[in-house]
Amino acid sequence: MNPTLQPIFDEILARNPGETEFHQAARELLDSLGPVVARHPEYTDAAIIRRVCEPERQIIFRVPWVDDAGQVQLNRGFRVEFNSALGPYKGGLRFHPSVYLGIVKFLGFEQIFKNALTGMPIGGGKGGSDFDPKGRSDAEIMRFCQSFMTELYRHIGEYTDVPAGDIGVGGREIGYLFGQYKRITNRYESGVLTGKGIGWGGSLVRTEATGYGTVYFANEILKARKSSFAGKTVVVSGSGNVAIYAAEKAAELGATVVACSDSSGYVVDEKGLDLDLLKEVKEVRRERLSAYAEARESARFVATGTGSSGSSGSPAGSVWDVPCDIALPCATQNELDGDHALALVRNGCTVVAEGANMPCTPAAVKVFADAGVAFAPGKAANAGGVATSALEMQQNASRDSWTFAHTEARLEEIMVGIHDRCLATADAYGAPGNYVAGANIAGFIQVADAMLALGVI
Ligand code: NAP
Repeated sequence: MNPTLQPIFDEILARNPGETEFHQAARELLDSLGPVVARHPEYTDAAIIRRVCEPERQIIFRVPWVDDAGQVQLNRGFRVEFNSALGPYKGGLRFHPSVYLGIVKFLGFEQIFKNALTGMPIGGGKGGSDFDPKGRSDAEIMRFCQSFMTELYRHIGEYTDVPAGDIGVGGREIGYLFGQYKRITNRYESGVLTGKGIGWGGSLVRTEATGYGTVYFANEILKARKSSFAGKTVVVSGSGNVAIYAAEKAAELGATVVACSDSSGYVVDEKGLDLDLLKEVKEVRRERLSAYAEARESARFVATGTGSSGSSGSPAGSVWDVPCDIALPCATQNELDGDHALALVRNGCTVVAEGANMPCTPAAVKVFADAGVAFAPGKAANAGGVATSALEMQQNASRDSWTFAHTEARLEEIMVGIHDRCLATADAYGAPGNYVAGANIAGFIQVADAMLALGVI
């Protein structure tokens, strides 16, 4: 690491003990900023890097609720309002038992630079809870969301902080959260949450946006290499919102998507995933992935039993052992490690685009770099979700609703723009073709310049 940046990283470690995912995300950014501090001493003079690594505000709160058996349950809620130099804090809410401050901070930190890359006026934040929605009834989900919002409402607003969905938070949860916000505040403030239903302030394409956007980004990488999705074999991980719509767009562009996963295992379907069936199993019936294989002759389910898509070397293997040309990790952080990356490279994979946030470990990213695999980091490749959230905010502000075709065209234009900006910035800072450097530097400079202009606040 650049000697100017090492003491800053040491300070991050000391000030945020035990928050390993946040350390990892901060290190990944700082590792790219060496050429920036050399060229722009003004950022160091104004302590921009130290300030950008410290959240503006962190809120932790109690979320009590009553389950269907009448028992009082207790969870912890978080909202980290990381940086508002470019606009109101913007970023999703995650409901998953693994959520703690370090996860929320890593996600909020990444969100700052991702949002900057979209070119839209949005700052960075993230939130969530250690609540586990799996196996909970609709009524329990509603009571939890209402309790969560009963505290969160005082910290958010159209011009302050605009949450959205993430793992475990989809259209149903956003509905219950928005309902409670409206009830408490007596305001129909559409712009306070994104990911709303189409009939009550939502935007067409928001559901599809992150997955579609990831594929648009990968498509630009392929075009730059005089190639395309047509005829390619694709593997996605996860089978949630991002994974399903990444698979859908890849198939639409002519690829065959042969595998996906959830935290119980993975499915291999050489004929190509039946996306109507996958949506029925995951979005409507909310079942495990094994139900897909039970309903489809060409598919087989491999149970991994590790709470993940599988680990290398285990008898069940992992979703990353399935041969493919293009890999789209769309499940969760650190799900693809160095051994998984070696398996992908061995099987001829040439492009990896992160639909999830930080799914590839630093060791995996190094394997890809050494092997000449084109690697698109999540803060660039999955920015289509938040970009379309910003389009939802635009429609809410103008009390308008756009067609699917118009909104999707805007999404594609934004993703092409991010791709080109990453490449141009990587070039300008001496790292041609390096999307990690390009995304980190371009996102950082946009935020840093705004922070310089706004003074020491
Ligand atoms: P989701 O709809 O809740 O789906 C998450 C999927 O990942 C599920 O299939 C889940 O399986 C699987 N998963 C979770 N942990 C796993 C593990 N350890 N191993 C294997 N599979 C695992 O969430 P999502 O919205 O698609 O989000 C997925 C990723 O994309 C996250 O990193 C999120 O931060 C990122 N992202 C989302 C958006 C968005 O607009 N939604 C935008 C940008 C980035 P189970 O059902 O078994 O848990």
